[in-house]
Amino acid sequence: MTYNYHSHTARCGHASGTEEEYILRAIEGGITHMGFSDHMPYIFPDGHESYYRVPTAQAQNYFDTLNTLRDKYREKIELVLGFEMEYYPSYFDDMYTKALSYGCEYLILGQHFSGDEWPDGYYVAVPTDNADLLKEYVTNVLAAMDTGVFSYVAHPDLFNFTGDEAVYEQEMRKLCVAAREKNIPLEINFLGMRAGRHYPQERFWKLAGEEQSPVTFGFDSHDAAGAYDSVSLKKAQDWVEKYNLNYIGKPDLILLQSK
Ligand SMILES: [Zn+2]
Ligand SMILES: [Zn+2]
Repeated sequence: MTYNYHSHTARCGHASGTEEEYILRAIEGGITHMGFSDHMPYIFPDGHESYYRVPTAQAQNYFDTLNTLRDKYREKIELVLGFEMEYYPSYFDDMYTKALSYGCEYLILGQHFSGDEWPDGYYVAVPTDNADLLKEYVTNVLAAMDTGVFSYVAHPDLFNFTGDEAVYEQEMRKLCVAAREKNIPLEINFLGMRAGRHYPQERFWKLAGEEQSPVTFGFDSHDAAGAYDSVSLKKAQDWVEKYNLNYIGKPDLILLQSK
């Protein structure tokens, strides 16, 4: 694995280490193409600012710091600078416009909520048997795919569904089919693996294999050690075999603008 387009920075408030430590760790692991995709800074129209994003006040510093490092390590690694962003039906246009204005070069979809997040979205990592929330999540992800601006779907299996297995399969199969038809890769998320979270979920990747959706990997580093994670890589490679996944390797980024 010589690429990783899912990296965070300490600015989001739940990551640690310096950007340079991440980059050095990635180079040491053999990564030649790396993307930073911290949580998109955003203030909702009523003034609410999510606790888990890059604060808007630090957005400029995010790009300035990483641009300096991009130049410093240009000979060793190719860096691209983007965001992990959700698709919120009421706010997508505004969020996307702001992402571009910050200088965002690419986006990955990290759909953490069903609905609009604020004021009444449902955080999908919390277990629920509510089929309507699952359906809303899948509807949101499909709409995100249709925008054509997201390079891939990070942790598509973040939704922690405890309800009817037939409903899970029906909904997630829709997502997998759309990924294949629109040729948008689905990411096996290594943060979930190394942290022992409820995702990545094998029941999802079984469906992705059956549907031959394009599959890619992402370290989702929130610390320097996570910028290269060979243990999760091995496990993900095993799943590629086990579920006959259509592993595409390095995804083709949809570049929104480039430096
Ligand atoms: Zn995060
Ligand atoms: Zn995420």
